[in-house]
Amino acid sequence: MNRPHFLLGGDELPFTPGETVLEAATRAGRYIPHLCWHEGFAPHGSCRVCTVKVGTRTMAACTTAASEGLEVTLHDEALDAQRRSLLQMLFVEGNHFCPSCEQSGRCKLQATAYAAGIEGPHFEEFYPDRPIDASHADLLLEFNRCILCGLCVRASEQYDGKAVFALGGHGIASHLVVNSASGRLVDSDIHPDDLAANICPVGVILKKRRGFDVPIGQRLYDRLPISSAPEDEAP
Ligand code: SF4
Repeated sequence: MNRPHFLLGGDELPFTPGETVLEAATRAGRYIPHLCWHEGFAPHGSCRVCTVKVGTRTMAACTTAASEGLEVTLHDEALDAQRRSLLQMLFVEGNHFCPSCEQSGRCKLQATAYAAGIEGPHFEEFYPDRPIDASHADLLLEFNRCILCGLCVRASEQYDGKAVFALGGHGIASHLVVNSASGRLVDSDIHPDDLAANICPVGVILKKRRGFDVPIGQRLYDRLPISSAPEDEAP
């Protein structure tokens, strides 16, 4: 039986009923830029980096159900400019100093920005001051790099069966919260092998003493552009 299809950038893409545009594209090896989406978790729809045009409407590919005959545009001048602006806003809202970051080469924000052709921040930097939490023996939290994707929250709740992280505040005051009596990671029940401790797409949740286990230059996105890197090896 023929599977239903939709069009992505003019190419026919088969899908399984129930899949979203982003899920079907990823399964078929077609890259749609994204940050807050991760296979196996309900979509968050917050980063908007996966925004595409469906017909004439702009929609998030991670929350749009694939359906027969859908015509999806991934790249045009306006979409690419919007995606670059969203990424540039994420860079200036936090402190992302790639050359000195231990996640360089395995950071999805950095790799996605390279793929989008970003060469500079464009907007004025906020330079927030968010104190690091180094209280845990094996893990470090570098809040200054948080892009509020919510993946650690969903991983902790839906996979680890805990609730170590939450997103608090609103708008510009939104921030990552550690759910413990003291608010510090050492007083939470996180374990370094938890998915929540291993899913951050940027450099917030870090393993101590492991920052340079793979030398810079040999990491996933040093070797492959994010558009052709295997999704399941990320971050
Ligand atoms: S700590 Fe990482 S995974 Fe958690 S919300 Fe921030 S960027 Fe996302």
